Amino acid sequence: DLWESRGHVEFRDVVFGYSGDRTILPHFSLDIPAGQTVALVGTTGAGKSTLAKLVSRFYDPSRGQVTLDGVDLRSLHPKDLRRAIVMVTQEAYLFSGTVADNIALGKPDATLDEIKAAARAVGADAFIERLPDGYGTDVNKRGGRVSAGQRQLISFARAFLADPAVLILDEATASLDIPSERQIQHALQTLLGGRTAIIIAHRLSTVAIADRVLVMEHGEIIEDDTPDAL
Ligand code: ATP
Ligand code: MG
Repeated sequence: DLWESRGHVEFRDVVFGYSGDRTILPHFSLDIPAGQTVALVGTTGAGKSTLAKLVSRFYDPSRGQVTLDGVDLRSLHPKDLRRAIVMVTQEAYLFSGTVADNIALGKPDATLDEIKAAARAVGADAFIERLPDGYGTDVNKRGGRVSAGQRQLISFARAFLADPAVLILDEATASLDIPSERQIQHALQTLLGGRTAIIIAHRLSTVAIADRVLVMEHGEIIEDDTPDAL
């Protein structure tokens, strides 16, 4: 009944501009095999977030196609697309509600046990259990306030629970203390297992764990290699 994506993403001769005559991606082709972790790096304005937005279908190409398992994203049922491709943004957005509700965002029918298992998988359970009402703590209430690193962990738990075939991550630029940084890195590795990932990477440690690093400039890939070759 449910369609299961394998996570093979391809850009085929994509041309894209936000508006008018300014082209951001002049001619873009890229094949990402299922299960590969790709780190995307490059100067500001290179088109990294634009690429991420095309894969998550915030925008459609002006020409060419973005495909998932060979199928044009435009032909996929929106429900299948949302299940298959999940984007985690820099802000690691939390809405007003409990920690449990926030983790279950992509899977509203999840049981508390499933929510806790996801939190445990990414190492978010320890700090959550120390909150005044544990998983029932309102993230916006006094005492429920969470740090930048903790917010990241909650959004990782959310993505882990949603279990998409393709994960897109716009890595946070906010600096974390060393222990949180290590914890995030560890959580990230767990999260990447068994799926395709496209990470807009700001940390060297993230680039190091990728299978492939793409360097972008002016809407083009200028380098495509393994991390140790760069
Ligand atoms: P950064 O490292 O700063 O996040 P980036 O590589 O993610 O940069 P993009 O956000 O993809 O770069 O932007 C690529 C180009 O597209 C830039 O010239 C930017 O000004 C332009 N752009 C981005 N978003 C929009 C938008 N919503 N409308 C119009 N132009 C946009
Ligand atoms: Mg960006």
